[in-house]
Amino acid sequence: MPAVSLNTDVALGVAIPSRNARGRIARLGPVLDSILASHAYPPPIEKLLAEALTLTALLGSLLKEAQGQLTLQAQTEGGIVDLMVCDYLGGELRGYVRHDPERLAEAPAEPSLKELFGKGYLAITFDQPVSEERYQGIVPLEGKNLGEAAQSYFAQSEQIPSLVRLAAEKREPGWSAGGLLLQHLPEGEEGRERLHTRLDHPDWPHIAILGGSVKAEELTNPELPLDDLIWRLFHEEDEVRTLPAVKLRRGCRCDPAYVRSVIARFPEEEREAMVGEDGFIRVDCAFCSSSFAIEPKELSS
Ligand SMILES: [Zn+2]
Repeated sequence: MPAVSLNTDVALGVAIPSRNARGRIARLGPVLDSILASHAYPPPIEKLLAEALTLTALLGSLLKEAQGQLTLQAQTEGGIVDLMVCDYLGGELRGYVRHDPERLAEAPAEPSLKELFGKGYLAITFDQPVSEERYQGIVPLEGKNLGEAAQSYFAQSEQIPSLVRLAAEKREPGWSAGGLLLQHLPEGEEGRERLHTRLDHPDWPHIAILGGSVKAEELTNPELPLDDLIWRLFHEEDEVRTLPAVKLRRGCRCDPAYVRSVIARFPEEEREAMVGEDGFIRVDCAFCSSSFAIEPKELSS
């Protein structure tokens, strides 16, 4: 089996058993360029989506089921961005952002979360179809960046001491983003119920300091393999383990037959109003910008 490159477009699981800590580290490069190429976003929106996709990869790769899906959706009020959606399924990522270009042009070059989202919330949905586990957490989009907002999600909604770091940078030849998620999970063997978490456990501050020392440049540097970076951060620990790496790819699940079935459910008069000058109903996929042309007569049965 060919080894997965640990430099880019990959998520790697990490465990530090003696400290009851584990997490994920991820770096995205060409996969970001390929997702961003479907859109023509200005740099601040590209950076936001790059960070959001990195967070999606970190959280998605926590799912145990191969068919598990993770969705991030930002709901906003009065922000420059009015919708942002990213999802993860089996290593495949996709995402888009709807924003107001005129307001963005008036904002500072590096807009804050508040400027971008106004009064915003991030809904994080974990969906595992095999075990029928589905849960959603909602976190206010507050703090310096998405990483901080995600970190408070774990602290508040899940009561798990966590560290989240995200960084994204446009380098040559394209975007590079990286993220680190570490969690303190005492007695956290797979499948065991968590009875109690001490928020002040001395192991955790130690791991949070080491993990928190990671630099944005280290997260985004595609020359630095992720296992080397983990070693750099935690080499003084008794034991550091990595889990099998997950290759990250761009993937869209839009499907012409599904699009047609959705349009077919509209009343006939509404469908007629959708027909363009060329005689087709055109539907674009917001994620990948694929355009589907549907002939109205294939719908009337
Ligand atoms: Zn699509």
